[in-house]
Amino acid sequence: MTKSASQQENLDLFANAKCQFDRALTWIDGIKAGIIDYLINPKRTLHVRFPVHMDDGSIQTFHGFRVLHNRVRGPGKGGIRFHPNVTEAEVTALAAFMTWKTAVVDIPFGGGKGGVVCNPKELSRDELRRLTRRFVAELGDAIGPHTDIPAPDVYTDQQTMAWIYDTYDLMHPGKNNLAVVTGKPLEMGGSLGRGEATAQGSLFATQQLLKRGVIRGMESLDGVSVAVQGYGNAGATAAHLFHEAGARIVAVSDSRGGICSDDGLDPLQVLAHKRESGSVVGLKGASEISNDEVLEYDCDILIPAALECQIRADNAANIKAKLIVEDANGPVTAMADEILHEMGVMVLPDIVANSGGVVVSYFEWVQNLEYQRWNLDKVERLLKDKMNKAVDDTVDRWTVLKERSDGDGSGATLRDAALVTAIERIASVVVQRDIWP
Ligand code: NAD
Repeated sequence: MTKSASQQENLDLFANAKCQFDRALTWIDGIKAGIIDYLINPKRTLHVRFPVHMDDGSIQTFHGFRVLHNRVRGPGKGGIRFHPNVTEAEVTALAAFMTWKTAVVDIPFGGGKGGVVCNPKELSRDELRRLTRRFVAELGDAIGPHTDIPAPDVYTDQQTMAWIYDTYDLMHPGKNNLAVVTGKPLEMGGSLGRGEATAQGSLFATQQLLKRGVIRGMESLDGVSVAVQGYGNAGATAAHLFHEAGARIVAVSDSRGGICSDDGLDPLQVLAHKRESGSVVGLKGASEISNDEVLEYDCDILIPAALECQIRADNAANIKAKLIVEDANGPVTAMADEILHEMGVMVLPDIVANSGGVVVSYFEWVQNLEYQRWNLDKVERLLKDKMNKAVDDTVDRWTVLKERSDGDGSGATLRDAALVTAIERIASVVVQRDIWP
């Protein structure tokens, strides 16, 4: 990739999502143009501007939105993000990923996502509580247990979900409203296993992919070297679980930088150090490296688990891993995808790799609606079934697409296969429902 080409790369997440979608469409016959338009663009985007009383007595107006991308297979499902740089394009792309993710992992949801432009690091707990409650009041009946169901995302957590539930419940008294939001604290209807679900799901998915022989010479995680970008919920848990499953964690990073050790890092020790010092950087016995060096580290598997658009046209050629497991949403751009594909680097796409989170959210929703409480064994067993099936469906479809192209696999990627599976499932429901009046 020339420098000028990389300079021209479009890092708008929705533009990248559209590129992935358009690429997948080239493998699908017989979908009418009108349906394609309906499947890529969001069904509804709600903007709200609302005032919040700040601790110093001032009033500040905040801008929030909720994108309902598609509801053909079930209620919208997707997190709410609090971040200063959150944009409509980003939330729209993340909502589209949710539509495709819920379809490929086959749970009865569509896709949604929300965001409020704010910096939670600069807000007090009281201000965050008032902001969350007012945002939910402004959304009104746009969310609901059978219409659109939020969950945590970047800088929102169990406490935020508890406020969302309580506000909605106040507005809809006398009903079982627990299923309006997932990722709640355990004591108020949260599910066992939800906290670890994304990383646990990505471990199950990776193990199944390796079992299927997709990466030559790597049938299990035994002795496999792994680098992880991002040491939050998804990344730190993935490092721990992959380590427990036999892998060697050779490099990790967070927003302040990276560390590495070819002998292997102890993920729990790294986490304890991060909790104490605020960063993975500075761990005794580990060497310090930059964030870019973590991505380009000489390892077997790379797990980006931080932000979108991290592997781009300008650094894709430097990747040394044989397999990228996308725990983050959209960490590989469309141009980088092409470069990695030419290099023979496999990518287990986000809509499969990190779908464990929404799968266990679905389990939480079912438990809430049925007044049930499942034990951890049941949650993990059902999660494993779902992840294995999603990987099998993706690999099976990839095998068929490879045969349809030139037989040597140079055409289709695992992302193409996952998206084709998702799009066909959604399109088939659109047609069967005869959705046009
Ligand atoms: P988090 O806020 O808990 O952790 C994010 C981590 O990334 C932090 O350690 C932060 O320091 C690090 N980070 C930020 N900028 C970085 C940079 N430039 N380089 C390296 N590290 C950096 O968030 P999370 O919940 O772990 O989510 C991470 C990603 O996984 C997001 O893309 C999210 O959408 C995706 N995801 C999360 C879940 C889930 O259930 N948590 C589910 C599906 C997808």
